[in-house]
Formats: sequence, C-alpha cells, structure tokens
Amino acid sequence: MKTITKEKEFAEIEKRIKDARNIYIIGCGTCATLCKTGGKGEVLKMKEKLQNLGKKVTGWMVVPTACDILTKEAVEAEAETIKAADLILVMTCGFGVQRVADHAGKLVVPALDTLFIGKEDEVQTEFSQVCAQCGECVLGLTAGICPITSCHKGLINGPCGGTNRGKCEVDKEKDCAWTLIYNRLKELNRLDLMEECQSPKNYQKVLKPGKASFKQ
Ligand code: SF4
Ligand code: SF4
Repeated sequence: MKTITKEKEFAEIEKRIKDARNIYIIGCGTCATLCKTGGKGEVLKMKEKLQNLGKKVTGWMVVPTACDILTKEAVEAEAETIKAADLILVMTCGFGVQRVADHAGKLVVPALDTLFIGKEDEVQTEFSQVCAQCGECVLGLTAGICPITSCHKGLINGPCGGTNRGKCEVDKEKDCAWTLIYNRLKELNRLDLMEECQSPKNYQKVLKPGKASFKQ
C-alpha cells in the first residue's frame, strides 16, 4: 500500500518558485520513489530543470520515508545547505511536505499532487486506489471489496442499472464492483448482506480537517 502521487505541471512549479534564486530539493525513498515521482532519478532531473532556469540548487536529498518522524533528523543534518536556500522544493506526498515544513524553518513548495492510497497492480508501474479514507468503512458488508473506490459511482447499494455481463457501464473494460461483491458474498454464502439497504453515505464522517485521538 502506498500514497500515490503525480508530478505537478512544471509551469505550476515554475510559478511557485519564480522569486527564489536558491533551492533545496527533498525526495522520498518510499512511496514517491515507487511512483517514480520523487526518487533519486526524479530529484536529479528536477535539479537539472531548475539549473536550466538559472536557479542554484544548494543541495538535495532523498529521505528514507518523508512522512516519518525521522525526517526531522534528516532535515537537521542538512541545516546549513537548507539555510542557504530560499525555499525547499518537496517531491513527496502532502504528509511528507508537512513533515519537512514542520522542521525546516523554510518555505516549502510541493512538486507533487497527492492522489490516493493505492496498491501496486500486476504491472508494477500502475496503481489502483484501494481506500478513499471515507470515515465509515463498509467492507464488512461487501466481503472486503471497497465500493467507494471500486465502483465508478461509489455506490453503497449496488449494482446500478448499467451493469452488463459483469462489466461496468462507465468503463466497459472494468469489472463491475458490485458484481464482484455479489460473487464473493455468494462464495461466502452471505448474500443476505446484500439484501440490507444501506442508508445514504454520511459524508460528515469524512473529517475535514482529519483529527483523531486514541486511548493509550
Ligand atoms: S469503505 Fe471507505 S474506509 Fe472502507 S475501504 Fe472503502 S473508502 Fe476506505
Ligand atoms: S456498473 Fe457496477 S461498478 Fe459500474 S457504476 Fe454501476 S454498480 Fe458501479
């Protein structure tokens, strides 16, 4: 499971860094490396692009896992070169960007957009969303197949009228999520779960901003 990111259009990055002369770049050795959006190769390519714009790259690093607390130590170890920069261009997920911002004492500019939590498909360079962090997990009713991320309409009472021979009406190449749910519940002899009509999804459970506390 990984946080899936994609690189922003360079024009957007260029706009955000236009007033900076000196830039430090940080990538991430975990998810962004896997997505090929913020690993060593992408960081070095970004360095070249910035230099072609006439910027000075004061330094760069790929921290092991940008969202981890240890990013604090990595940032502290690079304090001098970071200090010499006007801003840090961060090639990680939004969580990683926030970690860097918390400890670097410098303006941060994200170079990536964070898309979703995903899993690797068979083709290791493609990813599918597995969870949209909807705040009200219904996997217990759907034999572990997420209807929010697998069904094009995010239906929690499916299938819709468009399902056709097990394929989705929105994308005919794709299996209908609710047919998959039906088949798996049938295998488990729990089709009764599909007879329960679910109340409309309560989007108030999607915490914005997200906050939770746990008992020790
Ligand atoms: S039902 Fe919601 S919480 Fe459960 S896997 Fe799907 S998106 Fe994630
Ligand atoms: S055909 Fe199936 S997967 Fe597609 S939108 Fe309808 S219920 Fe969802």
